[in-house]
Amino acid sequence: MRLRIGAGLVGLVVVALRAAGCSGGGAAQTPGPPSVVVTYPVLGSVVADLVGDRATVTVLMGNGVDPHDWSPSAKDIERVEKADLVVANGLNLEEGLEKALVEAEKRGVAVFRAADHVTVRQRATGEVGSSEEAAADPHLWVDPLAMRDVVLALEPALAGVGVDVADRAPALATRLAELDAATRATLSVVPEARRLLVTGHESMGYFADRYGFRLVGAVVPGLTSQGEVAAGQLADLRAAIEAAGVTVIFTEIGTPSAVVEAIGSETGAAVVQLPSHTLPADGTYASFIGQIATAIATALR
Ligand SMILES: [Zn+2]
Repeated sequence: MRLRIGAGLVGLVVVALRAAGCSGGGAAQTPGPPSVVVTYPVLGSVVADLVGDRATVTVLMGNGVDPHDWSPSAKDIERVEKADLVVANGLNLEEGLEKALVEAEKRGVAVFRAADHVTVRQRATGEVGSSEEAAADPHLWVDPLAMRDVVLALEPALAGVGVDVADRAPALATRLAELDAATRATLSVVPEARRLLVTGHESMGYFADRYGFRLVGAVVPGLTSQGEVAAGQLADLRAAIEAAGVTVIFTEIGTPSAVVEAIGSETGAAVVQLPSHTLPADGTYASFIGQIATAIATALR
């Protein structure tokens, strides 16, 4: 009996805190911890690490889904509308969700776009397929220090919906700086002359800038896996691979395998999988970055 009364009181306290902490949010009437909706799994992993059990975190895209080829379901849009805070990447990664995000914002849902809080990488101008809008690179998640910037900016955004991570944010920022150092150490076995990346699409720009690699080219030119692959561009890529002495092509989610295999056999370059958009089995961001660094170090050492 005592236990039941106790549980009831706890429930009332939670409701009261929610009502006080969330003015005008999309789900202000709903009891329970605040609801944070994140668009894709890698960012979702970092947000979940940041909030611990102080909010519920829901990730819209399934792990292993190509984010460049994703569109939200009616259920996803409903989740956005009912969230207290939505954490998106920005830079058109969630193009199909943008309208729903703007609508939700108008109704009082807080929307945080990670790209607003990092130094956005601009794709070199004059490249084939580049336009003004497509020049901003959305792949900020392959740089642990960009994710540290995101974490530090998320702290006040979470406070705004009643989630206090003032203690957790600096601790996670420190771990991300340590992850950057560990990544640098893993990659130290790769000699300067072999720091060359050919990838499925242009996904590794932030990583290349951070760790001193050169982007030689991509099978699908541009910042999305969904771009057109033209015969002339493939001839240019083959020539670039041979001129630079590239020995490995890193294929990714959404890369047409027949095309990458053909370029590999024509140039003699090995084809290696690069898990640049998908969380590993343990679901942690540290393992995600570790897996990428190890794949590159192993292939290019
Ligand atoms: Zn991508």
